[in-house]
Amino acid sequence: MSFLDQTARSFLMIELVKGFALTLKYMFKPKVTINYPFEKGPISPRFRGEHALRRYPNGEERCIACKLCEAICPAQAITIEAEPRDDGSRRTTRYDIDMTKCIYCGLCAEACPVDAIVEGPNFEFATETREELYYNKQKLLDNGDRWEAQIAANLEADAPYR
Ligand code: SF4
Ligand code: SF4
Repeated sequence: MSFLDQTARSFLMIELVKGFALTLKYMFKPKVTINYPFEKGPISPRFRGEHALRRYPNGEERCIACKLCEAICPAQAITIEAEPRDDGSRRTTRYDIDMTKCIYCGLCAEACPVDAIVEGPNFEFATETREELYYNKQKLLDNGDRWEAQIAANLEADAPYR
């Protein structure tokens, strides 16, 4: 660029005008950012978020303590203990997931024959301590109760492709 050209550009503030023009151009376009956490983007029905244990509509736990999820977990994050109940049905007495080990592969949910353990839509479960990420059965059942409507809708949406 010649000296004259450069001087003319500086004098007429061409770069500044170009910058303002660019700002004006994008000012009226749809925004590509969202105001998280007040706005949230859509997530897939297959999203693998926080784990949950589901119940049947009558309140009975779905899990039958077959331990397939525990066996398939590549991170060995799941610990299950089970005993028969008074009515003869087999249920877990302990169902823990060490979320610090979990790699969110989704194999536990894939292996479960009764859709009991699932990875729900919740991705906002960061904690301040590692201890809070050791989930026990009650915590997982509470998650299931909290997210059941969305989990059921996601499973239904994904059912034709499974
Ligand atoms: S998502 Fe994968 S790593 Fe996490 S508990 Fe399930 S099987 Fe284990
Ligand atoms: S969550 Fe599913 S796979 Fe795991 S023990 Fe219970 S029934 Fe079996």
